[in-house]
Amino acid sequence: MIKIAVTGAGGRMGRTLIEAVANHPDLILAAAIEQPGSPFLSIDAGSLAGLDQSCVSIVDDLNDVIDDFDVLIDFTAPGATVSNAQACARSGKKMVVGTTGFDASQKAAVVAAAESTSLCMASNFSTGVNLCFKLLDMAARVLGDDVDIEISEAHHRHKVDAPSGTALSMGRIVADALGRDLDEVAIYGREGQTGARKDDTIGFATIRAGDIVGDHTVMFAAEGERVEISHKASSRMSFARGAVRAAAWLAEKPPGLFDMQDVLGLK
Ligand code: NAP
Repeated sequence: MIKIAVTGAGGRMGRTLIEAVANHPDLILAAAIEQPGSPFLSIDAGSLAGLDQSCVSIVDDLNDVIDDFDVLIDFTAPGATVSNAQACARSGKKMVVGTTGFDASQKAAVVAAAESTSLCMASNFSTGVNLCFKLLDMAARVLGDDVDIEISEAHHRHKVDAPSGTALSMGRIVADALGRDLDEVAIYGREGQTGARKDDTIGFATIRAGDIVGDHTVMFAAEGERVEISHKASSRMSFARGAVRAAAWLAEKPPGLFDMQDVLGLK
């Protein structure tokens, strides 16, 4: 059995991950971590996740349980993920990173951890979204510069970063396929007298509302027709199932940086 630790065990994704680990035949939950002061400390992670089996008590310091697991699954917050990645790198523990919203230096720090351990990082662990990534690359290459490209996404009211990490990944894939630099061509929202659309721009639109788990659409619009590639997540379990699949896959891998496209064999 592969021993798994989950950080942010009391969070929305943390609880879903604990359920997904419990349902995976090759994985066992060996540690669950929350931050100091969390109301969930010392509570059984299984009962917090709504399971009818007890697992492990939630602790407040990753370093206290660092010898107890093989792979850490981390869906928390950028600052926490950076220090967790550094702890995993120091002790050679493998890591699945689902947190989004990193700034450039935080992302560099997580990527640096992959020099010492195997690390799988993805803005979206759903299998369907990763298939969409592949389709987007294909669509951009076929449709080329003849289309206007716009990306829209909708998430629940609690999400703190925008546009979503998945929408940014989609933009980057499309920009790369067309030889554009996303940082130069991205337009994040429009208001007022914007003028006509510039040909090579890639627009982003964000909706935050209710309990939407995660919707993404990339539109390729030309004169007379348009193609839309859409994904709608209806449950966080789609991300959690992908993340535990990545954890099982990572257990066999040497140090290095991987993503969900590697896990699914889509590269
Ligand atoms: P959430 O419900 O706020 O959960 C985050 C959890 O992490 C909370 O329980 C939080 O505790 C905890 N936490 C924060 N700092 C911590 C630390 N230093 N040590 C341990 N725990 C810590 O958020 P969520 O909806 O689960 O999302 C978490 C992250 O995953 C976000 O970045 C989100 O964008 C990302 N996400 C990624 C995917 C993907 O497929 N890659 C899918 C869904 C979500 P407190 O509540 O005490 O702050």
